[in-house]
Amino acid sequence: MCSPTGEQVQPHPADNDENESNAWFPWHLGACDAHCHPTDTMASIASIASMRARMLTIMATRSEDQDLVSSVAAQHGIKSRADLVEATGHIPCQVVPAYGWHPWFSHQFYADTDTAKESTFDPSGEIEAEKTKHYTAVLSSTPDAAFIASLPNPRPLSQFIAETRERLLADPTALVGEIGLDKAFRLPQGWDTNEAPKRDEGLTPGGREGRKLSPHRVKISHQETVLKAQLRLAGELGRPVSIHDVGAHGGLFDVLSSLWKGFEKPVISRRQRRMVAEGAEDFSSDEDLTDDESGKGKKQSKAEPYQPRPYPPRICLHSYSGSSETLRQYLDPSIPTQIYFSFSMAVNLSKDGQWDKFAEVIGACPDNKLLVESDLHVAGGQMDESLAQIYREVCNVKGWVLTEGMERIRKNYEEYLFGIFD
Ligand SMILES: [Zn+2]
Repeated sequence: MCSPTGEQVQPHPADNDENESNAWFPWHLGACDAHCHPTDTMASIASIASMRARMLTIMATRSEDQDLVSSVAAQHGIKSRADLVEATGHIPCQVVPAYGWHPWFSHQFYADTDTAKESTFDPSGEIEAEKTKHYTAVLSSTPDAAFIASLPNPRPLSQFIAETRERLLADPTALVGEIGLDKAFRLPQGWDTNEAPKRDEGLTPGGREGRKLSPHRVKISHQETVLKAQLRLAGELGRPVSIHDVGAHGGLFDVLSSLWKGFEKPVISRRQRRMVAEGAEDFSSDEDLTDDESGKGKKQSKAEPYQPRPYPPRICLHSYSGSSETLRQYLDPSIPTQIYFSFSMAVNLSKDGQWDKFAEVIGACPDNKLLVESDLHVAGGQMDESLAQIYREVCNVKGWVLTEGMERIRKNYEEYLFGIFD
């Protein structure tokens, strides 16, 4: 069990709030939320300033929230790694923005970035006919005219990539996210004329908001095209990504592997290394080491300029829901990128019966690759509480006292955002 260590804790303004939970939590050590969506409820943004969490990584997902994320970052964003690392004590909660396009909205793009593929949409053609051609090609179960009419005119993927490149270049702390693959989701039905006036104006448009689901999914091949373009952008600019993966664990691994193919790290066994080093054979271990682990290799150096590559330098699999076997697949020492696994109460422990799998996966997750998140759509006390709870659960499984877990995860978070320096 996690337990307080009796450290001195500076009072926080919210300590007098009667609604706050009284359970002790070392907020002063800096709780870092690796993935959340406060811009879905813009009225909650004002509460970020009084939150106890230290950092929120705020995701954009669709057309309606890209500008909102950048406006919140302009108000609450950190400017550099130093702002995160050198801050001590009770610093007001700050944010790091992530710009990306979620797989739930991937049908809204037509692919014009991959010349080898036939485009599903010709911008010089008749718009209604081209729109029908596009949505019929990228959605499963042929959509009818009414459903197609409820969808926006498709946009060129290259245009979004260019806009996102500009946003990233304007903010050196920004990430790419939320991106990914989702085999399970279906598109919601369009708003019907009776329901539309009743929608909650406080919610950022574009989400499901309780609408009935249609039978249509976005074909995985199309989701992969949209995902790959964003992964390549992150690789070009050296930014970390936050990835959503529901039911597509094997497919996601294949997409990532296809991008880092040819860039794998050479794996040198301990035995080989000792033979080279000492001129003598050592049978004590055949454990494989990468160049990085052997201390000779390519950890990022502060002085070294980033070399663009086709895959992101750091990846967070957010609210990781795969098995411990799939997680181990990502620990292959030849993989040339840092892979982090993040966990939330909202996804990983929201239902009865999830604990055993959670404990097994957390047990398999390397201590230095573990992150936590709320994945919530509203900032404020609920987000703090959800974050405190997932810290407690993770610490419980790992056998860490809470202060140790906070410190480890804060370091992991900093390395995820900015890289592991020598
Ligand atoms: Zn999310």
